Amino acid sequence: MNFNPNLENLTVYEGGKPIELVVREFGIEPKDIVKLASNENPFGASLKAVEAIKAYADKVFMYPDDSMSELKEALAKHFELEKQHFIIGAGSDQVIFFAINAKAHPNMKILTAKTTFAMYDIYAKQVGATVLKTASDEHKLEEFLELYQQHRDIDIIFLCLPNNPLGECLPKEEVFAFLEEISEETLVVIDGAYQDFAAYKDAQMKIEPKTLIERFPNTLYLGTFSKSYGLGGMRVGYGIAQQEILEALYKMRPPFNVTSLSLKAATAALEDDAFIQMTLQNNFKEMERYENFAQENKISFIKSYTNFITLIFDKSKSSKKIAQILLKKGIIVRDLTSYGLNGIRITIGTPRQNSRCLEELQKNI
Ligand SMILES: *Cc1c(COP(=O)(O)O)cnc(C)c1O
Repeated sequence: MNFNPNLENLTVYEGGKPIELVVREFGIEPKDIVKLASNENPFGASLKAVEAIKAYADKVFMYPDDSMSELKEALAKHFELEKQHFIIGAGSDQVIFFAINAKAHPNMKILTAKTTFAMYDIYAKQVGATVLKTASDEHKLEEFLELYQQHRDIDIIFLCLPNNPLGECLPKEEVFAFLEEISEETLVVIDGAYQDFAAYKDAQMKIEPKTLIERFPNTLYLGTFSKSYGLGGMRVGYGIAQQEILEALYKMRPPFNVTSLSLKAATAALEDDAFIQMTLQNNFKEMERYENFAQENKISFIKSYTNFITLIFDKSKSSKKIAQILLKKGIIVRDLTSYGLNGIRITIGTPRQNSRCLEELQKNI
């Protein structure tokens, strides 16, 4: 059977391993499994979100409100914008898909960092786009600019700030200076999946969507409820942009793309600032333990502005083996071999989860 030829060179995205798989493969009790592989909130979801889901459970026979006004109003208030600046997706993943498809054409070109969120590449290849990547793993804007000036006809630039899976970030001023050099024809996507972590750690890293889209009408800002807000299972994310971009994105959107329960949960989660503050505080306090561990054991790590830390091993160690050994002990981390790196990405957990992870790491590196 023939399929879209663009799919031939595509590999399927491999997410963090689920708890059920470790239960099945290694016979470990679910309560003994520590999952630090998908950058989820280790404290779970805000109780306000859980209550909102319960309260709405008997209304799921109805289609969701497809205008998604309630969540858009809440987001608009949160970001001091108007609700027409928003599009809601089944995860911000879906908004990435909308953006690439809205701009797709036969000679499409996309520019990303060498080592960044895998979905930019996957969606780009689905539409047959050429993906140009910078030479450095981490975001180096001078390399982006050089490639951009060489090609000139780049359709979309993705900046993942902070970057997954490495954790680095760039100061707002540097990003804005870069944006000044980019033509209005090029869409620049700022993926802010971890922006709340970065802003908490260092105010210079904070990119406010309002300032961004007002100064640079060719930008699209992405946010998600899957990380700090603890709603990965609900699949809700959003895009923020000016009218012209959103009009094109809305043409890609399937009707009822976000469930009513997801909309309720996200709206409630947005109100629970105390939960987010607790999450952020724990995150950076606990991250120090991993940094100390890495320093004591002479393992390199990238300074992280996110809810994970990436450890890079020298040739005497294999990240694949280390991840496998940890898995057998019930600790799930993300091996970065598929990104071409001899490293692992560890989501910062609760103090107890981190103690177990660090203990096993110490024994097995
Ligand atoms: C997790 C993540 C997303 C999107 O997650 P969704 O669950 O689809 O909202 C987007 N970008 C980056 C960099 C991420 O790490």
